[in-house]
Amino acid sequence: MIGRDVDAGGRSSPGRAGADPLQAVSPKIPATEVERIADAVFGDSGSISPLASERDQNVRVQDAAGRSFLLKIQNPADGRAVIEMQTRAVQHVAKTDPELPIPHVLPTRDGASWAEVPLTDGRIAHARLFTFLEGHNPGTQELGQPQLFAWGATVARLGRALRGFFHPAAGYEILWDVKHAPRLRPLLGHVQDPSHRALVEHALDRFDATVGPVLGSLRAQVVHNDMSLDNLLVDERGSITGITDFGDMTHTALVCDLAVTLADVLDGRPDAIDVAGSMVEGYRSVTPLEPEEAAVLSDLVAARCAAAIVISAWRLDLYPENAEYVSTFGGGAARLLQMLEKVGFDEAARRFQGMAAGAGPPSRRTPTNELLERRREVLGSAPLSYHRPVHLVRGEGVWMFDPDGRRYLDAYNNVPVVGHGHPRVVEAIAAQARTLNTNTRYLHEAVVELAERLLATMPGGLDRVLFVNSGSEANDVAWRIARAATGRPGAIISEFAYHGVTEATADLSPEEWPPGETGPLHVERIPAPDGYRGRHRRDEPRWAERAAADVADAAAALAGRGVPVAALFVDPAFTSDGVRCPPPEYLREAAGAVREAGGLLVADEVQAGFGRFGHVMWSFQASGMEPDLVTLGKPMGNGYPIAAIVSRSDLVDPFAKRTGFFSTFGGNPVGCAAALAVLDVIEDERLLANAVLAGDHLREGLRSLMDAHPPVGDVRGAGLMTGVELVRDRQTREPAGREAVAVVNGLRDRGVLVGATGPGESVLKIRPPLVFGPDHADLLVAALSEVLESLDT
Ligand code: PMP
Repeated sequence: MIGRDVDAGGRSSPGRAGADPLQAVSPKIPATEVERIADAVFGDSGSISPLASERDQNVRVQDAAGRSFLLKIQNPADGRAVIEMQTRAVQHVAKTDPELPIPHVLPTRDGASWAEVPLTDGRIAHARLFTFLEGHNPGTQELGQPQLFAWGATVARLGRALRGFFHPAAGYEILWDVKHAPRLRPLLGHVQDPSHRALVEHALDRFDATVGPVLGSLRAQVVHNDMSLDNLLVDERGSITGITDFGDMTHTALVCDLAVTLADVLDGRPDAIDVAGSMVEGYRSVTPLEPEEAAVLSDLVAARCAAAIVISAWRLDLYPENAEYVSTFGGGAARLLQMLEKVGFDEAARRFQGMAAGAGPPSRRTPTNELLERRREVLGSAPLSYHRPVHLVRGEGVWMFDPDGRRYLDAYNNVPVVGHGHPRVVEAIAAQARTLNTNTRYLHEAVVELAERLLATMPGGLDRVLFVNSGSEANDVAWRIARAATGRPGAIISEFAYHGVTEATADLSPEEWPPGETGPLHVERIPAPDGYRGRHRRDEPRWAERAAADVADAAAALAGRGVPVAALFVDPAFTSDGVRCPPPEYLREAAGAVREAGGLLVADEVQAGFGRFGHVMWSFQASGMEPDLVTLGKPMGNGYPIAAIVSRSDLVDPFAKRTGFFSTFGGNPVGCAAALAVLDVIEDERLLANAVLAGDHLREGLRSLMDAHPPVGDVRGAGLMTGVELVRDRQTREPAGREAVAVVNGLRDRGVLVGATGPGESVLKIRPPLVFGPDHADLLVAALSEVLESLDT
């Protein structure tokens, strides 16, 4: 077997040039001789006690005054150049970051930094004396998140301190350097456990595929390369008191230093992946990672685990007598590798990448219950979703994460329309914020470009844009324009509509009216077009057109009260009314009816705009008609507040002139940069097509649940706007509101976020970011099936 027949002088390990300290026999100088060296060479006599080492001989020397020193007799495979490099590095760090608790090299009686010590087998070893650092090596579980943060920060600080260091021996080849992972393959035979061997092979395959091709382009420098539990000392509070053992130092990719630490410190902790974020965050607080480093971090961690498993098995075969020390390396590494494999190497890579890219501002770590209490104190009863509120710290794509790293599939939020934290949007916001952000009374190109881009997506008659900051404002201004243009005071809305929080739009939002309230005199409600349970149903010919006839009746009622209609406000998806998504004829007929009565049509695209319906950018376009006013909001900046009113110059210009309309933030350069990036991403990532594909797949999966689960009464929607109506009885179609709320909470407990909507909250509202794919849909359907199963029993 490889390595068994090693001679005393050391043999090359696979692919290594020169003697290898991992193979060469450690020095074993008898205690009396060590005492003599300490005294004769360094002038420190005292009692000695052995300390652990993988491949050197370490001894603690305690002098008569009680002072301790570390006498290190280096493995003879490490020649003079390597000793000199390690010594100079420690001296370099002492100068560049004097606060770092590193051991200091003490001179020999002759003033040298080391002495040569002949061994009985004829080899020469180098002996050095260091200051002794107090503390103990912590156990795996001893470190909480604050300590892990500090550990990560210390690794980065030492890396920084070494940034300007170089030495001719810095190319020190050591198999523990993660960049040499491919050289582990010839040693795989030493790994006895076939499942461990398979894990290692998988990790090495990943390394070849993802790390190998980019390794040469990563930042590289001399690093410590072994900031593990064995080489950092802590006090009883877990604060770092010492960094020891510079024996694995080498010139390698900087990020390898972090990967080594993550692998070795998180080791076999059951919460390893969850708490890794603290360590990475600590590292980033000193040295931000580059995207290319972030992308390979997880695979480097896996490769380091592989190295620990292989090298410990190999060295166990080489030196069975050192088993106690060496065998500790492999077990935790195998557990961590198993964890990575269980999560999936791709998913793990994404999670580490997310950690390395940074969750944004330094995370606040108040425990959830405490935070709830604090929130109540200052925000009162401002509502939170779900019986057990979800405490979130990060989002990425269709996923959101809680402080423990638990992920939630976001099937609820239409605001992050192109996915949480989309890098292009984030970068656009950051770049513009760095450059200029002002009120909007100055000439700036972004707002002009955004207006042009929006108008290009709309029917030709719509030629004006006003920018504001929220959907409520957009509807409020649309309402002012409609009233000004028509000189009329009346509004028609749907039974359970929602259009905003301002005084005027709250009047148009019966969803939020107190129970029993009938609404103001100038507002008339029409039933939402409900083809499932309404007066006109899908199986009736021309049902949607008939339902739209309610508009004419409402207009007549308003006129009869002396408040003739100025506008009909419609969310074409009828989201708050229970995601009705009527067929195209409805809006066409409704628009005709309100115009006939002298009013205007406002298409509120705050919910269903920006491609949610899939085949069209704006949901009203499905009806092939042209509204008089269109309001946009929520998804427009992917979370950055920006909203707009799009209309015709004959309506907008007189209003703007008369009022001098101006919104301080509306259309500010950062908001426009966000919105332009959103438009780019929707186009470049073909999110409309995805919405059709994923939405159809989702509804097909949801309909497949109808056979086994009688409460699933109806599944409807368009693109990635879906409603699932739950009923107590398929015949009577009695709404199952209580059950729907239970389902929403059951899904939340399974890590899937949806909402409940409609007058009785009996409709599941599924409205994910448009990067939601068929796989995500399958996850949702499977989770819903489980939850419905638990309801049935
Ligand atoms: N219109 C519709 C259809 C909405 O759903 C909402 C928000 N839920 C609004 C307007 C108001 O938007 P905002 O909360 O941004 O003011």
